[in-house]
Amino acid sequence: MIPAPSELRACRDCGRSVLWTTTAAGKRLAVDPHPAEDGNQACYRIAPRSWVSRSLDGADARPPARWEERYRPHVATCTGRPAVQEALPVVLPDPPNVIRIDPRRRGRARRRKGRR
Ligand SMILES: [Zn+2]
Repeated sequence: MIPAPSELRACRDCGRSVLWTTTAAGKRLAVDPHPAEDGNQACYRIAPRSWVSRSLDGADARPPARWEERYRPHVATCTGRPAVQEALPVVLPDPPNVIRIDPRRRGRARRRKGRR
């Protein structure tokens, strides 16, 4: 089953068409408007303009039923969303009471090698 163009909405972040569905938990989930074999959401239309989705992830998830189609969640393909993870700070300086052990170890190994 493929959503009708009138069922699609523009994504607020990237402007591409998405299909809004309701999950089993009653939450809203946007999926890409075309079925995809690697999609992890099983979706189908329960009423005009009303689609439901359920996750296929998880060991106890039933495989898609005859009336369901796999869709990808739009968050996985959206190009307009800012990265979720902020850039991490580079490297924190060692606190003054910490002695780094690894450079000393490396130095000892080098000395041992030189002896041979
Ligand atoms: Zn988007």
